[in-house]
Amino acid sequence: MKCGGCRQPAVIDVRRHNAAFCGPCFVRHCREQVRRTIHDLRMIAKGDRVLVAVSGGKDSLALWDLLLDLAGDLSIEVDGLYLGLGIGDYSDESGRLARRFADERGLRLVEIDLPTDHGFAVPEGAKAARRAPCSACGLSKRHLFNQAALDGGYDVVATGHNLDDEAAVLLGNVLRWDGEYLGRQFPVLPAGEGFVRKVKPLVRVGEREMAAYCVIRGIDYIVDECPIAAGNKHLAYKEVLNDLERRSPGTKASFVSGFFDRAHERFAGTAAESREGLRPCASCGSPTPGEICAFCRLRSQAGSARAADASRAAGAPVDTPVAIASPQRRDRAAEPDTHTGPTDRGAANPAPDPIEVNR
Ligand code: SF4
Ligand SMILES: [Zn+2]
Ligand SMILES: [Zn+2]
Repeated sequence: MKCGGCRQPAVIDVRRHNAAFCGPCFVRHCREQVRRTIHDLRMIAKGDRVLVAVSGGKDSLALWDLLLDLAGDLSIEVDGLYLGLGIGDYSDESGRLARRFADERGLRLVEIDLPTDHGFAVPEGAKAARRAPCSACGLSKRHLFNQAALDGGYDVVATGHNLDDEAAVLLGNVLRWDGEYLGRQFPVLPAGEGFVRKVKPLVRVGEREMAAYCVIRGIDYIVDECPIAAGNKHLAYKEVLNDLERRSPGTKASFVSGFFDRAHERFAGTAAESREGLRPCASCGSPTPGEICAFCRLRSQAGSARAADASRAAGAPVDTPVAIASPQRRDRAAEPDTHTGPTDRGAANPAPDPIEVNR
């Protein structure tokens, strides 16, 4: 197998493009795919400050690397944001890898740690709120990514959702004919009152390609999936799509691009309606349709559950209203040696879950 670009031995084939590449040509190919996606969908403008949600996984680290490469041409600033979700050893390891990537390159990594800064880890927050863990996780990510970008003066949050992720989410949304989710599923969500722009520059590159990119570029990433992902529907949809792709290369790409080009518009109104009539959360100021936003409710429920546990352990009666504490955010560039918090993998790959606000 020879590289289609330079006729040297190829290291990877991309069947849906009917092409094979050597290492350097493949890296150029990935950069070009991402550059064209950003350009075609007007994801990032000249001079933007971009915050990349990094999780220690291949997609988000590859995205950070790719955007850094494009930063000069696009005249953009690119920093990382790492959110610790408190998911055991898995989180510790992915956090370590995200920090290492930043340290080795002298990059700025903003860190938020759910247990330290907001008083709960994803598993316990989910239990307290009687939500599925991925639901509590996804809601926390959306809220905290947006808040961190607003606090830091960033124009846009970039996440590492790849073609496989988008195809799996789309399949799930179509199987349920969930109009609001379908309306919200697009690689660019524009900024609005209280919301920064959200973009997914990897929507045209596959998961396998991002793994190869990391290997070729020498990027060390966490290979294990989040343990909470085991058995969830998102992975089952990926398996089905992988089977279809094996039989007919290009299926995922045409499924996703066909939706974006020809069907998304039909659902966009449903999603837009859910953005109307939002008002600032009485606790944190984020846009919400109610008085208190979903994240503040989750934080409060987790706090109440923890206080009740502590009271039970101390033998005291349980009746403990919990104050909503002010969150803190640490800046990696400002505090280089104080990072012990855990992480998530799915910062770049949140499974779909119900949310209160459509962003
Ligand atoms: S699988 Fe993804 S969304 Fe679910 S808990 Fe893990 S990191 Fe969060
Ligand atoms: Zn080549
Ligand atoms: Zn709030």
